[in-house]
Amino acid sequence: MLPTRLIPYGRHSITEEDIAAVVEVLRSDNLTQGPKPQEFEQLFAKYVGARYAAVVSSGAAALHLCAVTLGVKPGDKVITTPITFTASANCVRYCGGDVVFSDIDEETYLLDIHKVRTLLESMPAAERSAYKGVIPVDFAGLPVDMCAWRELADEFGLWILEDACHAPGAAFYGNDGCMHRVGDGTLANLAIFSFHPVKHIAAGEGGAVTTNNLQYYEQICRLRTHGITRDASLLHENHGAWYYEMHELGFNYRLSDIHAALAIAQLKRADKNLQRRRSIAQRYIEAFRGTRVVVRPVPQGFEHAYHLFVVELEKRDELYNFLRERKIAAQVHYIPVHLQPYYRQFGWKRGDMPVAERYYKRCLSLPMFPSLTDEEQEYVIHTVIEFVTR
Ligand SMILES: *Cc1c(COP(=O)(O)O)cnc(C)c1O
Repeated sequence: MLPTRLIPYGRHSITEEDIAAVVEVLRSDNLTQGPKPQEFEQLFAKYVGARYAAVVSSGAAALHLCAVTLGVKPGDKVITTPITFTASANCVRYCGGDVVFSDIDEETYLLDIHKVRTLLESMPAAERSAYKGVIPVDFAGLPVDMCAWRELADEFGLWILEDACHAPGAAFYGNDGCMHRVGDGTLANLAIFSFHPVKHIAAGEGGAVTTNNLQYYEQICRLRTHGITRDASLLHENHGAWYYEMHELGFNYRLSDIHAALAIAQLKRADKNLQRRRSIAQRYIEAFRGTRVVVRPVPQGFEHAYHLFVVELEKRDELYNFLRERKIAAQVHYIPVHLQPYYRQFGWKRGDMPVAERYYKRCLSLPMFPSLTDEEQEYVIHTVIEFVTR
């Protein structure tokens, strides 16, 4: 029997407590620039295990401020993956830098570190000096091996901006013998998160930068509020209590108290929701074992956060339509970014990233969100199996 409403690939969940938290702000004196963003910052920094978290108005804003803070400028080259949301690459362009796409690993779908090494080693030092940084993405919620990336970055003098939008709560055991939570500030220079409703923690719109670097944290805090400071120790002059100075060209990328209150309420359920995502994943893995639906194994020592549950198969387009007709809205993540018309103007073309392009033809994200019921999941599994055994 058809479900009464469409089952999407991802869906936020809002409780009465979430609503009460937002209403409390609406009745208070501050809709923005009140205490809630700072409260959320402290809680989120603790959640990921970083010294500092700066909350901003979106994940894309977080990426932009990081690119500014890292000093990206015209002529600089920054490496990223084609299998991500476009925002991971766009932040480089906001600052006039060039995006250099490098192919993914076919088992993990993550930016392939060996290919990046080969790329960097293949060119003369003069050319290599234009390469300033790398933006690895914890795609679907699987953390990149940040110990390996740190080694590579140190060897070639690169910074690391980790796009961790899919991976709050994910972790891995590094070859340094430590367990690292994603965004803990120990390996990447900066990490960013999104609080878009389809992600783990919903704020409506929202984002965060986490780091252990105080200078970066302070600069991001200034840049998100127009480049303005009121800190008396930094002012060039001081005309009185009303006085402020603008020291650099910033933006209005603040998170409002309304959004922060929702995020605080949601963060309380983050661990429980992450467990639910993992048990949904486990059920899918068991159900598709031995079928033509390919589920790539999670590498040893890595704890997946399952923003997405990706499967691969032949006839993906047909399965997409088959599910759609049965009220299941699976999704494709992602259209390779180098093939977007905007990036093609820089010379990127079909065939440049063969692994990513093959993956794109075969991938499908099945429903994965904490409020997906067992019955709904069984219906999804049953429908997928029905398709592949026709
Ligand atoms: C969602 C997302 C972003 C952008 O976040 P917004 O909050 O929507 O701006 C960036 N990168 C990745 C990988 C994402 O999934």
